[in-house]
Amino acid sequence: MATYPIYLDNLATTPVDPRVADAMDPYLTEAFGNPASRTHRYGHEAREAVESARRDVATLAGAEPRAIIFTSGATEAVNMAIQGVAGYYSNRGRRIITCRTEHPAVLDTCAALAGRGFDVVVLDVDTGGHLDLDALHQAISDDTILVSIMLANNEIGVIHDVAAIGRVCKEHGVLFHCDAAQALGKIVVDVEAMQIDLLSLSGHKLYGPKGIGALYCRRRDPHVRLEPILYGGGHERGFRSGTLNVPGIVGFGRACAIANRELDAEAERIHALRTNLLSQIQSNLDGVQVNSDVEQGLAGCLNLSFDGVDAMDLIECMPDVAVSTGSACTTAIPKPSHVLRALGISPERALSSIRIGLGRFNTADEIGAVACRIVESVQQLRSVPPKQNSDDRNTCLQPNPEALDRENSSPVT
Ligand SMILES: *Cc1c(COP(=O)(O)O)cnc(C)c1O
Repeated sequence: MATYPIYLDNLATTPVDPRVADAMDPYLTEAFGNPASRTHRYGHEAREAVESARRDVATLAGAEPRAIIFTSGATEAVNMAIQGVAGYYSNRGRRIITCRTEHPAVLDTCAALAGRGFDVVVLDVDTGGHLDLDALHQAISDDTILVSIMLANNEIGVIHDVAAIGRVCKEHGVLFHCDAAQALGKIVVDVEAMQIDLLSLSGHKLYGPKGIGALYCRRRDPHVRLEPILYGGGHERGFRSGTLNVPGIVGFGRACAIANRELDAEAERIHALRTNLLSQIQSNLDGVQVNSDVEQGLAGCLNLSFDGVDAMDLIECMPDVAVSTGSACTTAIPKPSHVLRALGISPERALSSIRIGLGRFNTADEIGAVACRIVESVQQLRSVPPKQNSDDRNTCLQPNPEALDRENSSPVT
Protein backbone atom coordinates (compact mmCIF):
# COMPACT_ATOMS: atom_id res chain seq x y z
CA MET A 1 0.00 0.00 0.00
CA ALA A 2 1.32 3.39 -0.89
CA THR A 3 1.95 5.99 1.79
CA TYR A 4 0.62 9.45 1.12
CA PRO A 5 1.77 11.93 0.17
CA ILE A 6 3.80 10.00 -2.38
CA TYR A 7 7.39 10.91 -1.65
CA LEU A 8 9.18 12.26 -4.71
CA ASP A 9 11.64 14.60 -3.03
CA ASN A 10 14.55 12.17 -2.79
CA LEU A 11 17.09 14.83 -3.75
CA ALA A 12 16.23 16.74 -0.56
CA THR A 13 16.61 13.67 1.59
CA THR A 14 15.91 9.95 1.42
CA PRO A 15 14.18 7.61 3.84
CA VAL A 16 16.52 5.39 5.84
CA ASP A 17 16.67 1.99 4.18
CA PRO A 18 15.25 -0.65 6.60
CA ARG A 19 18.51 -2.60 6.24
CA VAL A 20 20.37 0.51 7.40
CA ALA A 21 18.01 0.97 10.37
CA ASP A 22 18.57 -2.68 11.35
CA ALA A 23 22.33 -2.24 11.24
CA MET A 24 22.15 0.88 13.42
CA ASP A 25 19.79 -0.49 16.02
CA PRO A 26 22.29 -2.32 18.29
CA TYR A 27 24.53 0.76 18.36
CA LEU A 28 21.73 2.83 19.85
CA THR A 29 21.15 0.39 22.67
CA GLU A 30 23.48 -2.37 23.87
CA ALA A 31 26.60 -1.43 21.86
CA PHE A 32 26.62 2.17 23.04
CA GLY A 33 30.33 2.51 23.74
CA ASN A 34 32.57 5.44 22.96
CA PRO A 35 35.06 4.36 20.31
CA ALA A 36 37.71 6.43 22.09
CA SER A 37 37.42 4.20 25.20
CA ARG A 38 40.40 1.86 25.24
CA THR A 39 39.78 0.11 28.54
CA HIS A 40 36.74 -2.12 27.91
CA ARG A 41 34.73 -4.12 25.43
CA TYR A 42 32.15 -1.37 24.90
CA GLY A 43 34.80 0.90 23.46
CA HIS A 44 36.36 -1.90 21.37
CA GLU A 45 33.13 -2.96 19.70
CA ALA A 46 32.16 0.64 18.90
CA ARG A 47 35.63 1.26 17.45
CA GLU A 48 35.45 -1.87 15.32
CA ALA A 49 32.04 -0.86 13.98
CA VAL A 50 33.34 2.61 13.11
CA GLU A 51 36.40 1.21 11.31
CA SER A 52 34.26 -1.25 9.36
CA ALA A 53 31.96 1.59 8.29
CA ARG A 54 34.99 3.68 7.35
CA ARG A 55 36.06 0.90 4.97
CA ASP A 56 32.60 0.75 3.39
CA VAL A 57 32.46 4.51 2.85
CA ALA A 58 36.01 4.54 1.48
CA THR A 59 35.29 1.67 -0.93
CA LEU A 60 32.33 3.49 -2.46
CA ALA A 61 34.52 6.56 -3.07
CA GLY A 62 37.54 4.62 -4.35
CA ALA A 63 39.53 5.91 -1.37
CA GLU A 64 41.76 4.47 1.34
CA PRO A 65 39.92 4.19 4.68
CA ARG A 66 42.48 6.28 6.59
CA ALA A 67 41.67 9.28 4.41
CA ILE A 68 38.00 9.32 5.51
CA ILE A 69 37.07 11.78 8.28
CA PHE A 70 33.54 11.47 9.68
CA THR A 71 31.58 14.72 10.02
CA SER A 72 27.99 15.74 10.78
CA GLY A 73 27.13 15.88 7.08
CA ALA A 74 28.20 17.33 3.77
CA THR A 75 27.75 20.93 4.94
CA GLU A 76 30.35 20.41 7.65
CA ALA A 77 32.64 18.50 5.28
CA VAL A 78 32.46 21.31 2.72
CA ASN A 79 33.20 23.91 5.41
CA MET A 80 36.09 21.83 6.71
CA ALA A 81 37.57 21.46 3.24
CA ILE A 82 37.20 25.03 2.02
CA GLN A 83 37.86 26.87 5.28
CA GLY A 84 40.53 24.31 6.17
CA VAL A 85 42.48 24.84 2.93
CA ALA A 86 42.00 28.61 3.14
CA GLY A 87 43.35 28.60 6.69
CA TYR A 88 46.34 26.37 6.05
CA TYR A 89 47.44 27.58 2.62
CA SER A 90 46.67 31.31 2.88
CA ASN A 91 50.40 32.11 2.78
CA ARG A 92 50.57 30.41 -0.64
CA GLY A 93 47.74 32.30 -2.23
CA ARG A 94 44.27 33.66 -1.74
CA ARG A 95 42.29 32.69 -4.83
CA ILE A 96 39.51 30.09 -4.61
CA ILE A 97 37.56 29.11 -7.73
CA THR A 98 34.04 27.71 -7.73
CA CYS A 99 30.93 27.77 -9.91
CA ARG A 100 27.51 29.42 -9.89
CA THR A 101 25.46 26.25 -9.62
CA GLU A 102 27.11 24.95 -6.45
CA HIS A 103 25.13 24.14 -3.31
CA PRO A 104 24.84 26.99 -0.75
CA ALA A 105 27.20 25.02 1.52
CA VAL A 106 29.96 25.83 -0.97
CA LEU A 107 28.79 29.26 -2.18
CA ASP A 108 28.15 30.66 1.29
CA THR A 109 31.44 29.33 2.66
CA CYS A 110 33.26 30.97 -0.24
CA ALA A 111 31.31 34.20 0.30
CA ALA A 112 32.34 34.21 3.96
CA LEU A 113 35.98 33.79 2.91
CA ALA A 114 35.62 36.59 0.36
CA GLY A 115 34.57 38.74 3.30
CA ARG A 116 37.86 37.80 4.97
CA GLY A 117 39.93 38.95 2.03
CA PHE A 118 40.05 35.83 -0.15
CA ASP A 119 39.74 36.30 -3.88
CA VAL A 120 36.76 34.13 -4.86
CA VAL A 121 36.11 33.51 -8.56
CA VAL A 122 32.65 32.12 -9.40
CA LEU A 123 32.59 30.59 -12.88
CA ASP A 124 29.51 30.63 -15.12
CA VAL A 125 27.94 27.58 -16.72
CA ASP A 126 26.37 27.18 -20.16
CA THR A 127 22.62 26.73 -20.72
CA GLY A 128 23.07 23.01 -20.08
CA GLY A 129 24.69 23.66 -16.70
CA HIS A 130 28.18 22.65 -17.83
CA LEU A 131 31.44 24.33 -16.98
CA ASP A 132 33.82 25.63 -19.64
CA LEU A 133 37.20 23.98 -18.99
CA ASP A 134 39.05 26.76 -20.82
CA ALA A 135 37.46 29.29 -18.49
CA LEU A 136 38.66 27.20 -15.56
CA HIS A 137 42.19 27.08 -17.05
CA GLN A 138 42.20 30.85 -17.43
CA ALA A 139 40.84 31.50 -13.95
CA ILE A 140 43.65 29.54 -12.29
CA SER A 141 46.30 32.10 -11.33
CA ASP A 142 49.61 31.67 -9.49
CA ASP A 143 47.94 32.44 -6.20
CA THR A 144 45.07 29.95 -6.64
CA ILE A 145 44.93 27.47 -3.76
CA LEU A 146 41.66 25.63 -4.35
CA VAL A 147 39.06 24.74 -6.96
CA SER A 148 35.67 23.57 -5.63
CA ILE A 149 33.26 22.02 -8.14
CA MET A 150 30.45 19.59 -7.34
CA LEU A 151 30.05 16.17 -8.95
CA ALA A 152 26.25 16.00 -9.43
CA ASN A 153 23.94 18.98 -9.07
CA ASN A 154 21.11 18.73 -6.55
CA GLU A 155 18.57 20.74 -8.58
CA ILE A 156 19.15 19.79 -12.20
CA GLY A 157 21.13 16.56 -11.89
CA VAL A 158 23.94 17.80 -14.15
CA ILE A 159 27.09 15.72 -13.74
CA HIS A 160 30.32 17.66 -14.18
CA ASP A 161 33.26 16.12 -15.99
CA VAL A 162 35.12 15.94 -12.73
CA ALA A 163 37.94 13.80 -14.12
CA ALA A 164 38.74 16.56 -16.62
CA ILE A 165 38.50 19.20 -13.89
CA GLY A 166 40.80 17.09 -11.70
CA ARG A 167 43.31 16.91 -14.55
CA VAL A 168 43.31 20.70 -14.99
CA CYS A 169 43.82 21.20 -11.25
CA LYS A 170 46.65 18.66 -11.20
CA GLU A 171 48.39 20.37 -14.14
CA HIS A 172 48.35 23.65 -12.23
CA GLY A 173 49.24 22.11 -8.87
CA VAL A 174 46.00 23.39 -7.33
CA LEU A 175 43.95 21.44 -4.76
CA PHE A 176 40.57 20.16 -5.94
CA HIS A 177 37.56 19.83 -3.64
CA CYS A 178 34.44 18.11 -4.94
CA ASP A 179 31.00 18.14 -3.28
CA ALA A 180 29.70 14.65 -4.05
CA ALA A 181 26.76 14.67 -1.62
CA GLN A 182 24.28 14.18 -4.44
CA ALA A 183 26.41 11.75 -6.45
CA LEU A 184 27.48 9.15 -3.89
CA GLY A 185 25.56 5.92 -4.30
CA LYS A 186 23.99 7.07 -7.59
CA ILE A 187 26.95 7.25 -9.94
CA VAL A 188 30.54 6.03 -9.74
CA VAL A 189 32.74 8.17 -7.49
CA ASP A 190 36.47 7.49 -7.63
CA VAL A 191 38.92 9.91 -6.02
CA GLU A 192 41.86 8.32 -7.87
CA ALA A 193 40.42 8.28 -11.39
CA MET A 194 38.94 11.75 -10.85
CA GLN A 195 42.09 13.15 -9.17
CA ILE A 196 40.06 14.58 -6.30
CA ASP A 197 41.97 15.84 -3.25
CA LEU A 198 38.99 16.60 -1.01
CA LEU A 199 35.55 15.00 -1.32
CA SER A 200 32.43 15.89 0.69
CA LEU A 201 29.82 13.23 1.39
CA SER A 202 26.46 12.95 3.17
CA GLY A 203 24.60 9.97 4.62
CA HIS A 204 21.01 11.06 4.19
CA LYS A 205 21.10 11.40 0.38
CA LEU A 206 21.78 7.69 -0.06
CA TYR A 207 19.26 6.11 2.33
CA GLY A 208 21.45 6.58 5.41
CA PRO A 209 20.60 8.65 8.46
CA LYS A 210 20.74 12.43 8.76
CA GLY A 211 23.49 14.16 10.69
CA ILE A 212 26.34 12.03 9.36
CA GLY A 213 28.72 12.58 6.49
CA ALA A 214 32.40 12.46 5.69
CA LEU A 215 35.28 14.34 4.19
CA TYR A 216 37.86 12.46 2.16
CA CYS A 217 41.20 14.21 2.56
CA ARG A 218 44.03 12.93 0.36
CA ARG A 219 47.05 11.63 2.29
CA ARG A 220 49.62 11.30 -0.46
CA ASP A 221 50.41 12.83 -3.80
CA PRO A 222 49.77 15.40 -2.41
CA HIS A 223 49.39 15.15 1.36
CA VAL A 224 46.59 17.69 1.94
CA ARG A 225 46.72 19.74 5.14
CA LEU A 226 43.76 21.46 6.75
CA GLU A 227 43.35 23.98 9.50
CA PRO A 228 40.66 22.33 11.69
CA ILE A 229 37.41 24.20 12.29
CA LEU A 230 36.63 22.25 15.49
CA TYR A 231 39.17 21.88 18.29
CA GLY A 232 38.97 19.43 21.16
CA GLY A 233 39.96 15.88 21.95
CA GLY A 234 41.75 15.29 18.65
CA HIS A 235 39.35 12.70 17.25
CA GLU A 236 39.60 11.72 13.57
CA ARG A 237 43.37 12.28 13.53
CA GLY A 238 42.92 15.80 14.85
CA PHE A 239 40.86 16.89 11.86
CA ARG A 240 37.51 16.76 13.60
CA SER A 241 37.25 16.69 17.38
CA GLY A 242 34.13 15.44 19.08
CA THR A 243 32.83 12.02 20.15
CA LEU A 244 31.90 10.00 17.09
CA ASN A 245 28.24 9.49 16.13
CA VAL A 246 28.55 5.71 16.17
CA PRO A 247 24.98 4.74 15.13
CA GLY A 248 25.08 7.35 12.36
CA ILE A 249 28.46 6.14 11.15
CA VAL A 250 27.31 2.50 11.18
CA GLY A 251 24.20 3.48 9.19
CA PHE A 252 26.22 5.52 6.71
CA GLY A 253 28.59 2.59 6.25
CA ARG A 254 25.75 0.16 5.64
CA ALA A 255 24.12 2.58 3.19
CA CYS A 256 27.40 2.73 1.25
CA ALA A 257 27.81 -1.05 1.27
CA ILE A 258 24.29 -1.46 -0.13
CA ALA A 259 24.84 1.22 -2.77
CA ASN A 260 28.09 -0.41 -3.79
CA ARG A 261 26.22 -3.59 -4.70
CA GLU A 262 23.02 -2.09 -6.07
CA LEU A 263 24.06 1.15 -7.73
CA ASP A 264 23.93 0.04 -11.37
CA ALA A 265 20.64 -1.85 -11.19
CA GLU A 266 19.01 0.90 -9.17
CA ALA A 267 20.09 3.69 -11.52
CA GLU A 268 18.64 1.72 -14.42
CA ARG A 269 15.32 1.13 -12.68
CA ILE A 270 14.97 4.77 -11.58
CA HIS A 271 15.91 5.98 -15.05
CA ALA A 272 13.10 3.89 -16.53
CA LEU A 273 10.60 5.29 -14.00
CA ARG A 274 11.63 8.83 -14.84
CA THR A 275 11.37 8.22 -18.59
CA ASN A 276 7.88 6.91 -18.01
CA LEU A 277 6.87 9.87 -15.85
CA LEU A 278 8.21 12.42 -18.32
CA SER A 279 6.59 10.81 -21.34
CA GLN A 280 3.22 10.61 -19.57
CA ILE A 281 3.45 14.30 -18.66
CA GLN A 282 4.66 15.41 -22.08
CA SER A 283 2.08 13.45 -24.02
CA ASN A 284 -0.74 15.04 -22.01
CA LEU A 285 0.46 18.62 -21.59
CA ASP A 286 1.91 21.35 -23.79
CA GLY A 287 4.24 24.01 -22.50
CA VAL A 288 6.42 21.74 -20.40
CA GLN A 289 10.11 22.66 -20.27
CA VAL A 290 12.68 20.17 -19.05
CA ASN A 291 15.34 21.92 -16.96
CA SER A 292 17.22 18.87 -15.74
CA ASP A 293 19.75 16.91 -17.75
CA VAL A 294 17.68 13.85 -18.64
CA GLU A 295 20.22 12.64 -21.19
CA GLN A 296 23.35 12.35 -19.08
CA GLY A 297 22.42 13.62 -15.62
CA LEU A 298 21.34 11.88 -12.43
CA ALA A 299 18.67 9.26 -13.17
CA GLY A 300 16.38 10.37 -10.31
CA CYS A 301 16.27 14.09 -11.12
CA LEU A 302 13.43 15.65 -13.08
CA ASN A 303 13.13 19.43 -12.99
CA LEU A 304 10.20 20.76 -15.03
CA SER A 305 8.67 24.17 -15.75
CA PHE A 306 5.01 24.47 -16.71
CA ASP A 307 4.22 27.55 -18.82
CA GLY A 308 1.77 29.88 -17.11
CA VAL A 309 1.70 27.92 -13.84
CA ASP A 310 3.10 29.11 -10.54
CA ALA A 311 5.03 26.27 -8.89
CA MET A 312 3.66 27.08 -5.42
CA ASP A 313 0.09 26.92 -6.75
CA LEU A 314 0.84 23.61 -8.43
CA ILE A 315 2.28 22.13 -5.25
CA GLU A 316 -0.69 23.36 -3.21
CA CYS A 317 -2.93 21.69 -5.77
CA MET A 318 -1.43 18.27 -5.19
CA PRO A 319 -1.08 17.73 -1.45
CA ASP A 320 -0.91 14.00 -2.07
CA VAL A 321 2.42 14.42 -3.89
CA ALA A 322 5.62 15.48 -2.07
CA VAL A 323 7.91 17.38 -4.46
CA SER A 324 9.74 20.67 -4.09
CA THR A 325 9.70 23.89 -6.04
CA GLY A 326 12.74 24.66 -8.12
CA SER A 327 13.16 27.76 -5.98
CA ALA A 328 14.37 28.58 -2.52
CA CYS A 329 11.20 29.29 -0.59
CA THR A 330 12.65 30.01 2.81
CA THR A 331 11.10 33.46 2.75
CA ALA A 332 7.54 34.59 2.09
CA ILE A 333 8.51 35.71 -1.39
CA PRO A 334 9.84 32.78 -3.40
CA LYS A 335 13.21 33.51 -4.92
CA PRO A 336 14.01 32.03 -8.33
CA SER A 337 16.57 29.25 -8.00
CA HIS A 338 20.15 30.45 -8.42
CA VAL A 339 20.85 27.24 -10.34
CA LEU A 340 18.08 27.77 -12.90
CA ARG A 341 19.06 31.45 -13.21
CA ALA A 342 22.65 30.38 -13.92
CA LEU A 343 21.36 28.40 -16.93
CA GLY A 344 19.86 31.63 -18.30
CA ILE A 345 16.31 30.63 -17.40
CA SER A 346 14.01 33.64 -16.79
CA PRO A 347 12.79 34.34 -13.23
CA GLU A 348 9.19 33.61 -14.37
CA ARG A 349 10.09 30.21 -15.76
CA ALA A 350 12.21 29.46 -12.70
CA LEU A 351 9.21 30.21 -10.47
CA SER A 352 7.09 27.82 -12.52
CA SER A 353 9.44 24.91 -11.96
CA ILE A 354 9.21 21.90 -9.68
CA ARG A 355 11.92 19.42 -8.80
CA ILE A 356 10.94 15.78 -8.72
CA GLY A 357 13.41 13.43 -7.06
CA LEU A 358 12.80 9.75 -7.72
CA GLY A 359 14.36 7.19 -5.44
CA ARG A 360 14.84 3.61 -4.32
CA PHE A 361 11.37 3.11 -2.88
CA ASN A 362 9.25 4.61 -5.65
CA THR A 363 7.09 2.17 -7.58
CA ALA A 364 5.70 2.19 -11.11
CA ASP A 365 2.19 2.55 -9.62
CA GLU A 366 3.21 5.65 -7.72
CA ILE A 367 4.74 7.17 -10.85
CA GLY A 368 1.52 6.53 -12.77
CA ALA A 369 -0.57 8.18 -10.06
CA VAL A 370 1.78 11.17 -9.83
CA ALA A 371 1.81 11.70 -13.61
CA CYS A 372 -1.97 11.71 -13.52
CA ARG A 373 -2.05 14.18 -10.64
CA ILE A 374 0.43 16.57 -12.24
CA VAL A 375 -1.42 16.57 -15.55
CA GLU A 376 -4.84 17.25 -14.03
CA SER A 377 -3.46 19.91 -11.66
CA VAL A 378 -1.67 21.81 -14.43
CA GLN A 379 -4.78 21.62 -16.64
CA GLN A 380 -6.91 22.88 -13.77
CA LEU A 381 -4.62 25.80 -12.99
CA ARG A 382 -4.36 26.78 -16.63
CA SER A 383 -8.13 26.74 -17.07
CA VAL A 384 -8.85 29.36 -14.39
CA PRO A 385 -8.38 33.09 -15.01
CA PRO A 386 -5.27 34.63 -13.45
CA LYS A 387 -5.73 35.06 -9.73
CA GLN A 388 -6.65 38.46 -8.25
CA ASN A 389 -5.33 37.85 -4.79
CA SER A 390 -3.95 35.05 -2.71
CA ASP A 391 -7.45 33.95 -1.60
CA ASP A 392 -8.00 32.68 -5.11
CA ARG A 393 -5.18 30.23 -4.78
CA ASN A 394 -7.20 27.19 -3.93
CA THR A 395 -8.82 26.95 -7.29
CA CYS A 396 -8.03 23.31 -7.66
CA LEU A 397 -9.83 20.31 -6.33
CA GLN A 398 -8.87 19.48 -2.81
CA PRO A 399 -7.96 15.84 -2.44
CA ASN A 400 -10.56 13.51 -1.05
CA PRO A 401 -9.76 10.12 0.44
CA GLU A 402 -11.00 8.42 -2.72
CA ALA A 403 -8.65 10.42 -4.89
CA LEU A 404 -5.85 9.50 -2.54
CA ASP A 405 -6.50 5.84 -3.08
CA ARG A 406 -4.19 4.48 -5.70
CA GLU A 407 -6.79 1.94 -6.83
CA ASN A 408 -8.97 4.77 -8.06
CA SER A 409 -6.37 6.70 -10.00
CA SER A 410 -5.73 5.47 -13.47
CA PRO A 411 -2.36 6.13 -15.03
CA VAL A 412 -2.31 8.66 -17.83
CA THR A 413 -1.23 7.12 -21.09
C1 LIG B 1 22.34 17.87 0.54
C2 LIG B 1 23.53 18.50 -0.06
C3 LIG B 1 24.50 19.13 0.73
C4 LIG B 1 24.36 19.26 2.23
O1 LIG B 1 24.46 18.02 2.87
P1 LIG B 1 24.06 17.85 4.42
O2 LIG B 1 24.59 16.49 4.76
O3 LIG B 1 22.58 17.93 4.47
O4 LIG B 1 24.74 18.93 5.17
C5 LIG B 1 25.60 19.68 0.10
N1 LIG B 1 25.74 19.60 -1.23
C6 LIG B 1 24.84 19.00 -2.03
C7 LIG B 1 25.08 18.93 -3.49
C8 LIG B 1 23.71 18.43 -1.47
O5 LIG B 1 22.81 17.84 -2.27
